Amino acid sequence: MTAALQPVLSHLAGRLDAAAILTGDAIDRRYLDDISGGVSSMPAAVLRPRSTAEVALVVAAFDAARLPLAVHGGRTGGSGGAVIQQGETVLSLERMTAVEPVDRLAGTVVAQAGAPLEALQAAARSAGLMLGVDIGSRGTATIGGAIATNAGGVRVLRYGMMRAQLLGLEAVLADGTVVSAMRGLAKDNSGYDWPQLLCGSEGTLAVVTRAKVRLHPDPPLKAAAFCALPSLDAAIALLARLRERLGPLLSAFEVMLAPLAADMAAALGLTTPVDAASPVCALVEIHGFSPDSDGATLSDALSEALDAGTATDIVMAQSTRELEGLWALRDGCSRFISQAGPAIGLDLSLPLAAMPGFLSEAAALVAAADPAGRPYIFGHLGDGNLHYIVLTSRPDAVSPVLHRLAARHGGSVSAEHGVGLLKKPYLPLVRSEAELALMRRLKTALDPHGTLNRGRIFDAPIRP
Ligand SMILES: Cc1cc2nc3c(=O)[nH]c(=O)nc-3n(C[C@H](O)[C@H](O)[C@H](O)COP(=O)(O)OP(=O)(O)OC[C@H]3O[C@@H](n4cnc5c(N)ncnc54)[C@H](O)[C@@H]3O)c2cc1C
Repeated sequence: MTAALQPVLSHLAGRLDAAAILTGDAIDRRYLDDISGGVSSMPAAVLRPRSTAEVALVVAAFDAARLPLAVHGGRTGGSGGAVIQQGETVLSLERMTAVEPVDRLAGTVVAQAGAPLEALQAAARSAGLMLGVDIGSRGTATIGGAIATNAGGVRVLRYGMMRAQLLGLEAVLADGTVVSAMRGLAKDNSGYDWPQLLCGSEGTLAVVTRAKVRLHPDPPLKAAAFCALPSLDAAIALLARLRERLGPLLSAFEVMLAPLAADMAAALGLTTPVDAASPVCALVEIHGFSPDSDGATLSDALSEALDAGTATDIVMAQSTRELEGLWALRDGCSRFISQAGPAIGLDLSLPLAAMPGFLSEAAALVAAADPAGRPYIFGHLGDGNLHYIVLTSRPDAVSPVLHRLAARHGGSVSAEHGVGLLKKPYLPLVRSEAELALMRRLKTALDPHGTLNRGRIFDAPIRP
């Protein structure tokens, strides 16, 4: 522990409970990183406040002492945002998990930032409502982390990303100031919409401590089908056709490109309802409010796809259990890949028209950079968002060429997990110097001493 940290911890020890401050051997290894498994240091300490006021106390003390904090939610991010750099202390929101009763009339729920997404989903369900954002890491990812990374998930094409759910925010600025906009008005043009500025800022501008989130009516009909498709072109054509035919009914369009479904099913002992070796397996889902007709609209649209040859086989889920089974296959992708061996994971978005060209060039580049590399591709085709995973022992050769290729095809180097520490070198590929300068000015204005998540997303000047 540094000489500068000791007095700060002593100051806080008199004001926080004993479980709020962990040092030395009391620091569990889970505080070292996130799912990226990036190169990490041992945190100088771990601080676990229980309220916004306690977060403010901690942040103000660290800012005054010019000591850096790394903000931690559930550590499910894949960009190394929660990976610890030398000398950093963890500010964990893990004890701030309260979820307030749902406001049914307004269709909103308020929660502390450390509440897992699953807890908000359960609260919404018990009030006959639903949260628009759902991600595979729902049990561990926090609402604060989801806001900090503007998380998307599997139903973005129907409900939008986290940004679209955000109705109110409470946050602590780098100097310890608490800012709160929790009225939750659907329309409010009175000045800057600063909660939207914080959404997606990856903890570099403020610590999110509480949020008010929009909920949606829980649709009485959830229907889904698993489809075998002959090619990615066919998948893109089917998506366009279903958008025309189903409009806002379409809630998810997820794809797995061969050989992922077959390898995943074999490794996890799962059975796919259509041939897992098909070039593309797609999970199509609708959320409907006319149970008598919406399911038939989906099956008619899919039958047309069979007739037109854009699908070669389609199996509709016949029960809630079967529907959950289809989603278990989709969730299995991340589970399979996490056990499949050393890998790099890109979460890219691309214009749909550019996707086939990107994929064929990417296959050639991977083969050239690592002949033993094995790409696995899946994701949210409805949002142009693909997880491009490569099992490889040569990450430094494979990763840069793929990021450069995505940028050349007009895509983004991060569609979901944010930039963190790992994607930082690739940011200039997709953002102009003027945009980067604007980001640095915002960071310097709100956090001049670099107290919060220093060096994440980009490097900014630090005022002593
Ligand atoms: C199986 C799996 C599936 C996933 N699927 C998706 C998906 O479909 N869509 C998607 O978008 N993401 C997905 N993710 C990524 C991840 O779950 C999300 O990015 C999630 O929102 C991160 O939340 P967290 O609490 O784990 O944040 P962390 O990983 O702890 O932190 C992420 C970043 O946010 C910052 N941060 C965390 N909490 C706060 C706070 N309270 N205030 C300020 N900054 C904070 C951290 O400093 C860090 O920079 C998936 C991850 C896994 C493991």
